[in-house]
Amino acid sequence: MANPLERARERAQTLRREIADHDYRYYVLDSPLITDAQYDQLMRELLAIEKQYPELVTPDSPTQRVGGKPREGFVTVAHRTPMLSLANAFGEEELRDFDRRVRAALPGEKVEYVVELKIDGLAVSLWYENGLFVRGATRGDGETGEDITPNLKTIPAIPLRLRENVPALEVRGEVYMTKEAFLNLNEAREEAGEPLFANPRNAAAGSLRQLDPAVTAARKLNIFVYGLGFWEGKDLSEHAASLQWLGKLGLPVNRHFRVFGDMAEVIAYCTRWQQERFDLPYAADGMVIKVNSLDQQARLGATMKSPRWAIAYKFPAEEAKTMVKDIILRVGRTGVLTPTAVLEPVRLAGTTVTKATLHNEDMIKEKDVRVGDTVLVHKAGDIIPEVISVVKEARTGREKVFVWPERCPECGSRVVRPAGEAAVRCPNVACPARLREGLIHFVSRAAMDIMGLGPAILGQLLDKGLVRDPADLYQLCYEDLVNLERMGPKSSQNLLAAIAASKTNPLHRLLFALGIRHVGERAAKILAERFGSMERLSRASFEELVAIPEIGPKIAESVVDFFTTEKNRELIQKLAAAGVNMQEEKAPVQAKPLAGKLFVLTGALSRYTRQQAQELIESLGGRVTSSVSKKTDYVVVGEDPGSKYEKAVALGVPVLREEDFVELIKPFL
Ligand code: NAD
Repeated sequence: MANPLERARERAQTLRREIADHDYRYYVLDSPLITDAQYDQLMRELLAIEKQYPELVTPDSPTQRVGGKPREGFVTVAHRTPMLSLANAFGEEELRDFDRRVRAALPGEKVEYVVELKIDGLAVSLWYENGLFVRGATRGDGETGEDITPNLKTIPAIPLRLRENVPALEVRGEVYMTKEAFLNLNEAREEAGEPLFANPRNAAAGSLRQLDPAVTAARKLNIFVYGLGFWEGKDLSEHAASLQWLGKLGLPVNRHFRVFGDMAEVIAYCTRWQQERFDLPYAADGMVIKVNSLDQQARLGATMKSPRWAIAYKFPAEEAKTMVKDIILRVGRTGVLTPTAVLEPVRLAGTTVTKATLHNEDMIKEKDVRVGDTVLVHKAGDIIPEVISVVKEARTGREKVFVWPERCPECGSRVVRPAGEAAVRCPNVACPARLREGLIHFVSRAAMDIMGLGPAILGQLLDKGLVRDPADLYQLCYEDLVNLERMGPKSSQNLLAAIAASKTNPLHRLLFALGIRHVGERAAKILAERFGSMERLSRASFEELVAIPEIGPKIAESVVDFFTTEKNRELIQKLAAAGVNMQEEKAPVQAKPLAGKLFVLTGALSRYTRQQAQELIESLGGRVTSSVSKKTDYVVVGEDPGSKYEKAVALGVPVLREEDFVELIKPFL
């Protein structure tokens, strides 16, 4: 029997090997096999061994260095100052330990902490010279990252020019994908039989680290900046002030940061977000606590892996145990069969969960999920209920292995599994399930946006044979609707009005609604703007299409295919005959450039009276309100501004001086 040191050495070696594998999958392939909580558990075990036996620490241990590696094909850039990771705190006690360490290193000094949301995305560095965005990179191994400038330029939230000509600025932030964008992306990938992203963080990283920036542009990415790497031309002594300054420069700063004087308040704020984060549109996997004073930060310094002045408080993993009552299949609009586990209802991350996606045939096999199994579930990226693993010890022997059917459960056609795809499909284009799902998509908010036409009503219209394709919707009359279940005279009239109103939608909505494979919202917009009419687009050749930036060969081929299929041409003719608009109108978008924007005015302007400024904003589609809130888009500041100015700065709302305001509206006057 080996002695304890030998056993610890062996275990540490195994853990390092395993962690290295997981790091590769996570940082290089953006495709992890285990959850973050499972990964953190491995890391904690290794840390505990290294703490007990410091002689076992090796310089290449994952506890000693930042995890990422550059992907092949990217040019690498050296960071001017290292981009480090963060040490983790699990639970309140570890936060108090951090506080004690900080105070012990700064005896007798007052310490303030800034607490921010820990956005679950990918760290990037952005370089600005004389106010202009010149370069951007991933964190990589902390010393060198990948140069991803063209990809970052496709993210609308990254200003290409700052609002001030700062001589030099390196800012750090987190590129992320909203939960909604992640869901839509994975849904589209599922339909296309492509591998899915495990969570929004991996989806953001996979989208950003693309050799072809057009792919990045098609994914909806966003960014929050949270700190400075290097700067010139501004005296700063506190981190909170630097965040406010970054906001003023036009960079997106998350508004939920707060400054606290003691650890009890910090803990209370972290605890509050543990539940509230589920209401955020993006995933946050914890809170980051940073010493506010930049001078104290400098004196506290850093280890090879992380600064000593900051710590990440990781939210406990939200997992639950429940039972798989059944496994059912749903046929999507492109015919993909998606298996779903029907669960014994269970409370999880803010909601009651009754179903969990199993994604595809391979996943059911890999995880060996059977009907009757007890399973561990979580929400991937706080949003998609997913089976993590089966609790095999709970098996009784009565569990049933799921047998994949040979025929479509909806129409009986023999299913196919194209080579190289994980998805099983129903190949029948007339399958009623495909038709139903296609119609649900057609009327959905981002497509033709027909309010009041939910799946239940659509189902009845299909069953009665009143609707066989989307064009039939435009032939419906009052009598057809009023006799349906759950429809009365008023709702029938409203629905008819909504259907009629959708005829005037711009072309890009119709293109998206048609469900042409690979044509998402953005591609639909690009195509509509480029060709202006359905007629013109339907005649576009493959070469003409691929020549458009952001339109790749897959989209081009699919568009050409769509318009050469006789059935689709007939559908479009039918829609046009019903009066559905086939043109892209540019005018309305330009006519109201400030549509939806909320302004607050404070202080005296030299060129306009308050009234004039307000009328100008309103004539351009914006609105003026009297008080500053998180919803305010801009605060226009004149001479002697009042407290509204300070509030704007505190909330990180962009502030416009009179010149900036004039600059903003000039092109439209
Ligand atoms: P981290 O994600 O735990 O924390 C550091 C990062 O937090 C920073 O680099 C920055 O990108 C980010 N961040 C977000 N908001 C921030 C803010 N307001 N201020 C400062 N930083 C902010 O550390 P890491 O080194 O990037 O990754 C390690 C973690 O990644 C692990 O703890 C684990 O959760 C996950 N991981 C999982 C696997 C897996 O197989 N599932 C593998 C490797 C890593």
